[in-house]
Amino acid sequence: AEPEPITLSAEAASRDFGGVRALDGVSLSVAEGEVVGLIGPNGSGKTTLLNLLSGVLAPTAGRVLLDQAPLPAVPRRAARAGVVRTFQNIRLFGELTALENVAAAAVAAGGARRRDADAIARRELAWLGAEHVAPALAADLSYGEQRMVEIVRALAARPRLLLLDEPAAGMPESETRALAALIARIREERGAGLLIVEHDVDLIVTSCDRVAALVEGRVVAHGTPEAVRTDPAVISTYLGA
Ligand code: ADP
Repeated sequence: AEPEPITLSAEAASRDFGGVRALDGVSLSVAEGEVVGLIGPNGSGKTTLLNLLSGVLAPTAGRVLLDQAPLPAVPRRAARAGVVRTFQNIRLFGELTALENVAAAAVAAGGARRRDADAIARRELAWLGAEHVAPALAADLSYGEQRMVEIVRALAARPRLLLLDEPAAGMPESETRALAALIARIREERGAGLLIVEHDVDLIVTSCDRVAALVEGRVVAHGTPEAVRTDPAVISTYLGA
């Protein structure tokens, strides 16, 4: 029998920063094999929720669970447990090659043995169809290539759940299409679940099974991409009505 898909979930999770409640009782889950979108205006708490769901921050109230157990609020431990994220700002080491960047993640987050790391990194870059960038310094890659290498680096950690923070930010449309194809392959070929924070509503609608919309730290709409896109609360927020 197939094992049950692993689920990552926030349950009535809140997070305060001093007197500011960035998240207020948010519940949201993503399971292996699922693609979930998270939208919301600036300051609505999307990054904070991603930080909670990836062990970067602990909730002030409520819980974050990975398969019923509390997610360790330590990113490397969360990664070893199968939850890996990318960041809005590219965090590659510019003076290392693409291969070295991916290999380092295979060891640090993926728990691979150091002597296996290069082979794993080569396999991951080949999976992306990007063997040719392996020897290039990360700083010399195009912006779109850097974003793709970041995703490959995350995949080298063998995530069961992969959280992407604005993966299409700054991308031209041709690269956004390649990104949508990559998201579909990560689900289909790796069986991972994805949670995607994104301003590009077209990418969200194309790629996601479910979407949640945050406003002022609360989920105001949650459902199919079409239902959320046409939700009155979402429309009034985005149109400022
Ligand atoms: P989004 O990602 O949707 O733009 P954030 O999660 O970054 O929203 O921020 C939500 C709210 O929490 C904002 O009011 C922001 O100023 C506040 N906030 C986020 N991180 C911190 C922090 N480390 N310290 C203080 N306030 C923060």
